[in-house]
Amino acid sequence: MAVTTGHGNPKWTREEVILALDLYLECGLSIPSASDPRVKALSETLRAFPHHSAAARKASFRNADGVAFKLQNLRQVSTGLGLGNVSKTDRAVWEELGSSPNKVKELAALIRAGLDTLSEVREDQAEYETFAEGHVVTETHLRRERSPVLRTRLIDLRKKQGRFACEICARKPNVLDNTLADAIYEAHHVVPLAIGDERVTKIADMALLCACCHRLIHKAIVGQKRWLSILEARKLIYGYECTD
Ligand SMILES: [Zn+2]
Ligand SMILES: [Zn+2]
Repeated sequence: MAVTTGHGNPKWTREEVILALDLYLECGLSIPSASDPRVKALSETLRAFPHHSAAARKASFRNADGVAFKLQNLRQVSTGLGLGNVSKTDRAVWEELGSSPNKVKELAALIRAGLDTLSEVREDQAEYETFAEGHVVTETHLRRERSPVLRTRLIDLRKKQGRFACEICARKPNVLDNTLADAIYEAHHVVPLAIGDERVTKIADMALLCACCHRLIHKAIVGQKRWLSILEARKLIYGYECTD
């Protein structure tokens, strides 16, 4: 996960280094400068990378200078030429993929394709971005909430418990077509997860909410500028305290 470095920017992830390596291998040993359109294009791609949305608001985050510098790091790893503040990830990616340009191309294409899909999802996430007790709650939180494995486990558990309903509004899966029932619900974290938060997600920390209440609780959290419990959210949104 994102770790802050001396410049206040998160370290390059493996995916990011692979994209840089793809450009590096394309360029041969003549490293393009920060004003090269290919460097600028990669900078734009990396700034749209979903892992670092908060960091990306800083002008220096993965700017063209940073990308050009990363290409020099990769040259350092691959040839020993020049000075380089080479990271472990740079070295590991080079060792793994440096001699397989086709594999790098393939992985880079997959990473780019994944980013395109994620950027569509991101459009309706902006309103979810929020503050909780001073910590920026990021897409780390939303990504974990979207984990299909966790959501399925939570749904299965609630069915077993006979509590397959929204924990805020108590909506039951009242649809004619039973195959649509699960689609009503989303998993919501009752504790905020922030950048770099490596704690393991426990089912006990998840609440099952209908998609509507899930949207409302996040909106309410933004409005209140603090994290809300399920009980608080229910009171705030619907005006009643408890139905169970
Ligand atoms: Zn609901
Ligand atoms: Zn949520």
